[in-house]
Amino acid sequence: MPLNLYSLANRMSAETGFAFAGTEGRDDDGNRWLELRPAEYPAGQTFTLRTVVGWRRIDVIFRPGNFAGELVEAMGQAGEASRHVFCTVLAACRDAGAEISLSVNGVKYSPDDDALWTSPWRSLDFAIHRGMLTINEGDTNADLCQIEQWTSRAAVAVLAILPLEVEGGESSETVPEVAGLPEGARTRIEVNRYERDRRNRAAAIAIHGYRCKACGVDMGERYCADAIGLIEVHHTTPISEIGSDDGYIVDPRNELIPLCPNCHSVAHRRTPPFSVDELRDMQHRP
Ligand SMILES: [Zn+2]
Ligand SMILES: [Zn+2]
Repeated sequence: MPLNLYSLANRMSAETGFAFAGTEGRDDDGNRWLELRPAEYPAGQTFTLRTVVGWRRIDVIFRPGNFAGELVEAMGQAGEASRHVFCTVLAACRDAGAEISLSVNGVKYSPDDDALWTSPWRSLDFAIHRGMLTINEGDTNADLCQIEQWTSRAAVAVLAILPLEVEGGESSETVPEVAGLPEGARTRIEVNRYERDRRNRAAAIAIHGYRCKACGVDMGERYCADAIGLIEVHHTTPISEIGSDDGYIVDPRNELIPLCPNCHSVAHRRTPPFSVDELRDMQHRP
């Protein structure tokens, strides 16, 4: 079941809780592009995220609207936890072979440079470039998986520092922490406020993908198209170690691990939970 632009926009909306609309076209060089933008706001006041599919490469380019000055300024004032997610996602992109271009007020920065956040943001240029890809060689589904992977990484980095608290805050009770589960099943799964943070969850999935880290299952492949995107996110630091520290900053790369519903349930059969390595070993028993 091939992904398309609409499933990409829908998936990004579902993961981030932020409604995206999508358009697509071809540039003067004949390269295909897909573009996401926030659906519920005037385009000029927000931004677009354009993914250009070139020869063996994908470029995802963030463009603020012409009247997005306030938004850009607010992004530059993102809190420490948000900045951490932004930097972590971009570091994961670099480790996966991408180049990051990032300029604030016309000055280039490395994403992990603290100086990035010191003066008010008047302009922001941001893009992720990934070359040396096997793409456009006839496997449409594989191509779209790569498009989705790189687009979602750029999207979660941007969303991490967007001023979204107006939607109800990071601990909003209305946000389901485990997507795709019936109401009753949710209660049996240990939840905590860190796993509940949708942006962290979206960042973890953008970094790690939808495949279970313990058993390797991709629910969409294993079952059917309805199961695409069905994955849970497990917090590896026991809550007893975090306690009630409200200033605790979760690391979406190392602490939030995608697990399928089976492995996640097994992980929580013990307190503290089984580690991902332990879950892996269990399955390799003869
Ligand atoms: Zn699993
Ligand atoms: Zn868990």
